[in-house]
Amino acid sequence: MKSWCCFGGATGMLKAILCVLAATFTLSVDGAARQPDPSTGDALRVLILTGRHNHDWEATTPFLKTMYEESGRFVVDVTEDPASLDADALEPYDVLVDNYAAYPDMTGRQWGKTAEDAIVEFVRQGKGMVLFHAAVASFLDWPEFLEMAGCSWGEDSAHGRRHEYNVDIVDHDHPITHGLHSFATSRDELYHRLDMHPPIQLLARSYSMASAKGSGRYEPMVLTTDIGQGRCFYTAMGHDVEAMEGAGFQAVMLRATEWAATGAVNMPPPDALPARKLQAVVLTGGHDFDEEAFPKLFEGDEAVLYDAVHQEKDSKIFEDISDWPYDVIVLYNMSNKISEKGRANFLRLLDQGTGLVVLHHAIIAYQEWPEFARIIGVNYYQEESTINGVTYPKSTYKHDVDMPLRIEDGSHPVTQGLKDFVVHDETYNGMTFGAANQVLVSTKHPASAKSIAWVRQYKNAKVCFIQVGHGPQVFTNPNYRQLVHQAVHWAGTAPE
Ligand SMILES: [Zn+2]
Ligand SMILES: [Zn+2]
Repeated sequence: MKSWCCFGGATGMLKAILCVLAATFTLSVDGAARQPDPSTGDALRVLILTGRHNHDWEATTPFLKTMYEESGRFVVDVTEDPASLDADALEPYDVLVDNYAAYPDMTGRQWGKTAEDAIVEFVRQGKGMVLFHAAVASFLDWPEFLEMAGCSWGEDSAHGRRHEYNVDIVDHDHPITHGLHSFATSRDELYHRLDMHPPIQLLARSYSMASAKGSGRYEPMVLTTDIGQGRCFYTAMGHDVEAMEGAGFQAVMLRATEWAATGAVNMPPPDALPARKLQAVVLTGGHDFDEEAFPKLFEGDEAVLYDAVHQEKDSKIFEDISDWPYDVIVLYNMSNKISEKGRANFLRLLDQGTGLVVLHHAIIAYQEWPEFARIIGVNYYQEESTINGVTYPKSTYKHDVDMPLRIEDGSHPVTQGLKDFVVHDETYNGMTFGAANQVLVSTKHPASAKSIAWVRQYKNAKVCFIQVGHGPQVFTNPNYRQLVHQAVHWAGTAPE
């Protein structure tokens, strides 16, 4: 099932203004080539190919033109009729930028033989081509185009809901990405399951969260290809002007365009790109919970991408961690089963420094795995238990209690800014606690154990346990929300 956004909701007036803008910026490409502006010296000459798109090319084309020109490195012409191009028309340019998409007519080669041969020859002779977003939803029957693009829109290709996502740089040596750190995009589409046409060189990837209607795997986000002596570039970013306003999109496009034109990047990396967001997984399953209210606990925490994974009996998520995308695990499950392999992988993640936040009834997850209680720093006894000759009575719980919470240490990142507060929630009592727990929140309520929230270290992982968290009244409590959000940030952030 394909998923496509059509033209955005620009009003008639706005559309008209954009059309005028586009017309103002559009120059004829036949006849005399535009000379580089003397003020820009040896500016690189860009030709934007556009005029048809299932996206709003009349808005994005002038945006791109301005972006290139304001960098001081490029002068830009635009053609709205790529089919009219030939070798002479292309000759003055250093690089082509493809803002054209034939979708849904992805076969039929709308540009025709003369233009297509001229474009391939232009690149082969040592120049460049830059493609982005839906440009690859075109020309599926043009082999050289697929070779240049490195990927194309296929039967299974789609995107989830639009959101800000991370672009994780995997190749820091390439001129385009050298000196750039991984960053967060503006609100954009994250394409998944594009058809790939190797060989490609992958420079950056993005994790597509299944809970955002994505693919549940890493997707290629920035890549390059070679054809003849020439260089091509593709990024899946760039759905609309809002997406293009992202500093990361602009840095990548500008650097890629310079590289495609010249083979080198001389422009300095930007001072700052939007910080990469933490990637968290919230694991549920094995215990009832308020499925409407609980997810809202994580809303409004803009610095974290929360993925939601529900696994009723097993924790299959730990069976294969070869492409593990998460900085922090939030357990709200009570699944009992975790295989030997799952346990080993869980420990490996903690050893690698993946953070762990354990909420409420996850205190009795993995009862068949004794090490889990040592990881989280607490034993809850579902039955009277005798361990090493010591008998522990059954632990207890009590619903609908107004429990005053005391902040024991407000200087810790998990509790900073919080003052004592009251929650209406469920108590637990009769547990035993790890000696190394650093207690941050406590209570004197007689139906509850004293320790409510604590932090500890296990292997290289930062672990935070928060006992309260049964129902909607605590999920909407602003103090509790702050406590949980700060716990996720703290646990998911590597030590300085
Ligand atoms: Zn789009
Ligand atoms: Zn509960």
